[in-house]
Amino acid sequence: MERIIIIGGGLAAVTAAKTLRTEGFEGAVTILSEERHLPYDRPPLSKAVLQGAADAQSTCLLNAEAAQNLGIDLLLNQRVEAIDRDAHVVRLSSGASLPYDRLLIATGSRARTLDGPFEGKGNVFYLRTIADAERLRAQMVPGKRLLSIGAGWIGLEVAATARKSGMEAVVVELADRLCARSLPPDVGVALAAVHRSNGTVIHLNTSIVTVGGEDQVESVTLSNGEMLAVDVVVIGIGAIANDAIAREAGLETGNGVIVDEFLRTSDPLIYAAGDVAAMRVGDGQPTRMESWANAQDQAAAAARNMLGKKEPYAINTWFWSDQYDLNIQMIGDNQPEGGTILVRKGEGRSFTRFAVIGDVLVGAICFGAPRDMAIVRRLISKGYAVTDDSLITAPDLRKLL
Ligand SMILES: Cc1cc2nc3c(=O)[nH]c(=O)nc-3n(C[C@H](O)[C@H](O)[C@H](O)COP(=O)(O)OP(=O)(O)OC[C@H]3O[C@@H](n4cnc5c(N)ncnc54)[C@H](O)[C@@H]3O)c2cc1C
Repeated sequence: MERIIIIGGGLAAVTAAKTLRTEGFEGAVTILSEERHLPYDRPPLSKAVLQGAADAQSTCLLNAEAAQNLGIDLLLNQRVEAIDRDAHVVRLSSGASLPYDRLLIATGSRARTLDGPFEGKGNVFYLRTIADAERLRAQMVPGKRLLSIGAGWIGLEVAATARKSGMEAVVVELADRLCARSLPPDVGVALAAVHRSNGTVIHLNTSIVTVGGEDQVESVTLSNGEMLAVDVVVIGIGAIANDAIAREAGLETGNGVIVDEFLRTSDPLIYAAGDVAAMRVGDGQPTRMESWANAQDQAAAAARNMLGKKEPYAINTWFWSDQYDLNIQMIGDNQPEGGTILVRKGEGRSFTRFAVIGDVLVGAICFGAPRDMAIVRRLISKGYAVTDDSLITAPDLRKLL
């Protein structure tokens, strides 16, 4: 019987395993996850779970019964330490080895840590796992003062959840804007305004100069001279691909496991998908996404290709975030060089921002306008030609379809 092993227990791993079955694969499918929890979805961890509006169990992606029904061997608490490509086996932390015919690396990413004075302090948190979310949730107490270091998606979502939980929230960011890697400056400004109107204090262009406290961080001084008393510190300064086992096995890596458009690594028996995969198309720079939709679609495509389909994968750029009662969604290229930006005003602070190159719609950000995304997605995929200002003025965007 053919054996496919999937390393990792997140969304990409579960999607790939399920896809193998829906595509009719009858061999053995094994998921090896280092976590002791059943596979779970991460987006709610910084939102409903952190706020206490949903319990951690509600995030489960695959329970033992479903795994059994699908004939998936779901092995938890099993860290893969090494891939032996000559022997076609993976070596586990338990000392056991498992043979494979094909392998999927879906090891995701982990929170980047900030060492120095924050290391080992009892009130410093990261947010990547269910265990992280449960520890942090216990700190979400009205009146406590939260410091978010880093104004990326996680830091901002945690600050928003803190405010919704009756806490004080301050965000400190080195860059001159929010979500500098993914949001255009004008949208960053709009998002900062939403935070400020909800009572979150944001310091941009600011670093932390000193940290006070012994076992706990009690205060920090900022490069702008301000001193803050704090109860809880959350560090959200990005994620790092879990690509060490691939690198040590001699696979091509570089900010992730390098894959081609078929999600194959430099070893034709080994594929990679999700946050850990950096996809190279043609001679271009490898692109690694850290998003739910891409992890899901890429894993499904990898599974089909592992079964012999030759489907080239196109990166799914759709991303969303929820902060306060604001939903932000984005798709495509929103900072095109030499492009034109069109902004359609919605109700209140909401808007939909279109990016156009020539007359081609290439990206959009729906800021508090989630219903527009379904339409925009279709406009982009049908290659909607922007020949007038209808995107801004049409009373109903659906009429443009
Ligand atoms: C708090 C939070 C909120 C988010 N919110 C959003 C959002 O609103 N919108 C959005 O689009 N995206 C969001 N994301 C991103 C999204 O959740 C990720 O892109 C997605 O989880 C990636 O899935 P994955 O399966 O590739 O990796 P992961 O979810 O990281 O799963 C990888 C798994 O592999 C395990 N593993 C690693 N190494 C080994 C090993 N050697 N052996 C065995 N197991 C191993 C890991 O422990 C982990 O369980 C959020 C992420 C976080 C953390």
